[in-house]
Amino acid sequence: STCYNPDGVYRSPRTPVSFPTNPSLSMVTFLFRNAASYPERLAIADADSGETLTFAQLRSTVYSAAAGLQRLGISKGSVILIFAPNSIHFAVTFFAIVASGAIATTVNPLYTVSELTKQAKDSGAKFVFTVPQLWDKVKSLHLPTIFFGSKLPSEIATSEAPIHYFSDLISVPETEFFPPEIRQSDIAGLLYSSGTTGANKGVVLTHRNFICASMMASGDQDLLGEPPNTFLCFLPLFHIFGLSVITYAQLQRGNSLVLMARFEMEAMLRSIEKYRVTYTFVVPPVMIALAKQAKAAKYDLSSLKLIGSGAAPLGKDVMEEVAKSFPSVELVQGYGLTESCGIISIEYPQGKDRVYGSTGFLSVGIDGKVISVDTQKPLPPNQLGELCFRGPNIMQGYFNNPEATKLTLDSEGWLHTGDLGYFDEKGQLFVVDRIKELIKYKGFQVAPAELEGLLLSHPDIIDAVVIPFPDVEAGEVPIAYVVRTANSSLTEAEVQKFIANQVAPFKRLRRVTFVNSVPKSASGKILRRELIQKESDPK
Ligand code: AMP
Repeated sequence: STCYNPDGVYRSPRTPVSFPTNPSLSMVTFLFRNAASYPERLAIADADSGETLTFAQLRSTVYSAAAGLQRLGISKGSVILIFAPNSIHFAVTFFAIVASGAIATTVNPLYTVSELTKQAKDSGAKFVFTVPQLWDKVKSLHLPTIFFGSKLPSEIATSEAPIHYFSDLISVPETEFFPPEIRQSDIAGLLYSSGTTGANKGVVLTHRNFICASMMASGDQDLLGEPPNTFLCFLPLFHIFGLSVITYAQLQRGNSLVLMARFEMEAMLRSIEKYRVTYTFVVPPVMIALAKQAKAAKYDLSSLKLIGSGAAPLGKDVMEEVAKSFPSVELVQGYGLTESCGIISIEYPQGKDRVYGSTGFLSVGIDGKVISVDTQKPLPPNQLGELCFRGPNIMQGYFNNPEATKLTLDSEGWLHTGDLGYFDEKGQLFVVDRIKELIKYKGFQVAPAELEGLLLSHPDIIDAVVIPFPDVEAGEVPIAYVVRTANSSLTEAEVQKFIANQVAPFKRLRRVTFVNSVPKSASGKILRRELIQKESDPK
């Protein structure tokens, strides 16, 4: 059977679900809609601090924190920035922000002051949640700050901008929370992505986007009749994968969540044993680590049922290696984007005709289209083109950026991903390559335009282009071709240092090559594909 229709649209083969139709529904009300029937079940365990919250405790803590935010004057539509590593506090804060009708924007804690400042300004953030360790960066924002944790260095106590404590926020009685009118169409999150081209932009995600994405990302467990699962999450909550696909989607199903601030093999295996973890979602570098390591035998991992991988391409051979070491564990690959609230497709667990390398079938409620790069016409199965998707999880657009929005969302609501791929006859999706400029380092976005902009700000550099270079461990690393001024003695190391001083470590240039000119089309567009192809096939 094919999912391809005469109108050129691929439809999801999954059993339809009904997404909630009540227009006045907040994603937090939806999150706790069934929680009264399992108040004592573990909601979140923080594997680093040992703290835990049951569903009843999570609910009351979220509403206390939301009441605390209202006391601070936060109201509907205020943007609040979270700049912190994963913790139980991060999750509570995100839910409290959206419960109060405010909008959360999340920032990678590795970001430099200038990267952080850019996002704070662009999003119009009015408050910051952070940890004391990041105060050095946060203080330059001069915004009211709310600290996780209690012990603060004395320098912080004398800050000019108002300082508050998360512990005070959650001690406000939840009965003081005044629920605002929230509509599904209200904005809940502004997560940043470069999209297909240019610098980072705020991806506008509504309560409805999160609600529908959460049903898409957890529905297979219902079809399988799974009891509540225990998910392990070390993927960052600032990224859509950790925030939407894991944290929100799994908690709303009544699954338990074990949070860790970072991936470390031993700690992960220990947590699987300790919390009897059943499901975990990872990124390809973790799969590679799992394929190589032999320590699994030291731990009781018998609870583990499924490992899902997403955020970047996963090699078929890696999947087969991991399958050998974990014969009783389902391995599935999924695909998604920040612009789709994290989810587009995922393989069926226990699928019969599994093809490793596929990213699975369209999630419920999502339509797909593969369009010819030349003619923009829809393509039938097994033909390669740009992947486009439509569904209730797709973003509203880029924040305050109608031009970029128009380039990405067409008038019929199709999201043009900039990814190249195809569906086979059965409707399994294969993501083959990327036509957009994005570089993915261990699943993290590196926007070439951002690095090119910085390179061009150097007085000795007249032109530059940044492209991905394949790397076994990271997937891709950024490298640059640079044109120097006539008498410049600028070295590769100097260029690398110039960039390293301004960006998060994962964006650093791993190689700089000096050239006489950057190849451009007649209209002046950089011929990226040409350079990328030359790098992957040097002759
Ligand atoms: P992000 O918005 O950071 O989640 O990045 C989304 C992009 O990551 C997609 O447009 C793809 O280019 C890439 N991506 C995500 N999942 C996969 C996958 N399973 N295989 C290949 N590329 C992927």
